[in-house]
Amino acid sequence: MSALSDQSTAKHALVTGGGSGIGAAIASTLAIAGLRVTIIGRRLDALQAVAARHPGHVQAVEADVTDAAAIATAFAEAKVRFGPIQVLVNNAGQAHSAPFIKTDAALWQHMLSVNLTGTFNCTQAALPDMLAAQWGRIINVASTAGLKGYAYVAAYCAAKHGVVGLTRALALEYAKKGITVNAVCPGYTETDILRESIANVVAKTGRSEAQARSEFSAGNPQGRMVQPEEVADAVLWLSGHAAASVTGQSIAVSGGEVMN
Ligand code: NAP
Repeated sequence: MSALSDQSTAKHALVTGGGSGIGAAIASTLAIAGLRVTIIGRRLDALQAVAARHPGHVQAVEADVTDAAAIATAFAEAKVRFGPIQVLVNNAGQAHSAPFIKTDAALWQHMLSVNLTGTFNCTQAALPDMLAAQWGRIINVASTAGLKGYAYVAAYCAAKHGVVGLTRALALEYAKKGITVNAVCPGYTETDILRESIANVVAKTGRSEAQARSEFSAGNPQGRMVQPEEVADAVLWLSGHAAASVTGQSIAVSGGEVMN
């Protein structure tokens, strides 16, 4: 039995956006590896459905990552049952598309607020536990859109580039404190966010769903969508002791679409 599967020493991981897609896969992978996992999101029913698959190992707490006060309350609630937070996975995000000229201030703010400020809020809430323990793992789910540009998602791209910048800055700031800060950068991954993007292309261009899908997967040299479990495995590795020397990195999980 690994140390992580012992409830007395099991680490507490908090995963935002854990009620669906990549976040749900991360929560399951970490729980199966023996961590205690809190998942956070706005839809309690979705979170509870994921938690029910891992009784005693995953708990659901409702909160909006854009609301710093709500996040502080949610993190305090999460710690009552599972103790101090050792692993933070900033995964909650949204991707809305629009031509730049039609990107109004509200869409711009919304993308920055959910993807970048949400990461800021949760990282500030988790850091005191990590500093007290002189050990921590922060893993930001950015995107290949944090490493390269894509047309029609300028606000999302800017926010995810911001997440990569934040990752690099914090990695240096906490390098001597036992805390690593990394990003994983998925390419197009088979989740609701992608299904919505495909539906958007179908609605706006009249293309068939199959055409739209093949256009999304064409950018991946492997010619397919990334699976959520593939991103989750990268997060599991970064959250462990073996990755102690890996910090400030933005690891693309994209079938070779981005090479850095
Ligand atoms: P998803 O299934 O739509 O998951 C997004 C999650 O974020 C949802 O569970 C949602 O839960 C949560 N969320 C959204 N806004 C929130 C808020 N304000 N507060 C708290 N939680 C919030 O999509 P996904 O593909 O798994 O996305 C996960 C992450 O991967 C995102 O950061 C996304 O940008 C990134 N990513 C995805 C792809 C892709 O192709 N799928 C590629 C690269 C990067 P609630 O609605 O319940 O709040």
